[in-house]
Amino acid sequence: MKALRWYGRKDLRYEDVPEPSPGPGQLKIKVTLAGICGTDLKEYATGPHMIPPDRVPLTLGHEFAGTVDTLGKGVTDFNVGDRVSGVGYYYCGECYVCKEGRYNLCVNQGFTGLTTDGCMAEFFVLPAYACYKLPDTVSDEYGALVEPLAVSLHAVRQGKVQPGDTVAIVGDGAIGLGALLAARAAGASEVYLVAKHKGRGGLAEKLGATAVIYLDEGNPVQKLMELTGGIGVNAAIECVGYPDTPQLTVELTRRGGIAVITGVFEKPGTIDFSTILFTERMLVGSSIYIHEGRTVIDLLADGRIDPGSLITSIVPLKDAAELGFEQLVQNKEANIKVLLSVP
Ligand SMILES: [Zn+2]
Ligand SMILES: [Zn+2]
Repeated sequence: MKALRWYGRKDLRYEDVPEPSPGPGQLKIKVTLAGICGTDLKEYATGPHMIPPDRVPLTLGHEFAGTVDTLGKGVTDFNVGDRVSGVGYYYCGECYVCKEGRYNLCVNQGFTGLTTDGCMAEFFVLPAYACYKLPDTVSDEYGALVEPLAVSLHAVRQGKVQPGDTVAIVGDGAIGLGALLAARAAGASEVYLVAKHKGRGGLAEKLGATAVIYLDEGNPVQKLMELTGGIGVNAAIECVGYPDTPQLTVELTRRGGIAVITGVFEKPGTIDFSTILFTERMLVGSSIYIHEGRTVIDLLADGRIDPGSLITSIVPLKDAAELGFEQLVQNKEANIKVLLSVP
């Protein structure tokens, strides 16, 4: 079969590899569409970050829609031919956090497309617990967005967003825009988005942002305070991962508000703790998802989340390096989520 394999920074090769076979509890999936994630892009542009040296060459990818091709031993809740999507994590089910049901925090975590071969291939394998059936009302294109939307929804849950709350999102990438949709679905009455790119900010307005605050148009905290009567928001969600974005996120919240960190950081940043102490703000992490993927499929099925405009192009897997990864690096205005169509 064909697969897109990571050999090193800016070195992706479309080549023949043997087909995988599913282990116990796993599914072998025939991939229809694979999405390029921000983490895949980081591995391409400036990696390796999370790919262990002994896994190279590695097939990237953990965002997908496909059909079940083969059932591993012991799998009973899927049938061959089922249309499915899924998420990236492997968890042990036995460590202390897994026993609490907090699988995203597993001590022995693995990740499809980073520690095992991923979905940018004709076939790949993943655990059945990380796979969800797609109803007829959810297209393959939307199915391929389940994983990133699950990240966004988990972040909104970490922010304890309630109906009527005000929310700010820092970041105009797929996770930030997904968080805007998830916050709206959770009942937030006002959702502000802090954006760097005008094209993406314009899209945020179409997706229901109350207002978009551009980083190059003055102090974003001051802007948000003007928009919220000097109060700030109940929850602010950081979806960038730059050293100075967590401080900004904290300062966007009201007294007693929650700042959620979702970005993946390459460098540490600093926090002025006096902005937390006297205002009793809370700063919390948000790591991937637990089973939000299932909820996302329900939200897609009944139209409470419509992420269609996040998909900016669909290109063949064989052209992924030039028409997908390179385009996402070069042109952030025009590209948000690029899907790869698998032959
Ligand atoms: Zn992803
Ligand atoms: Zn575990």
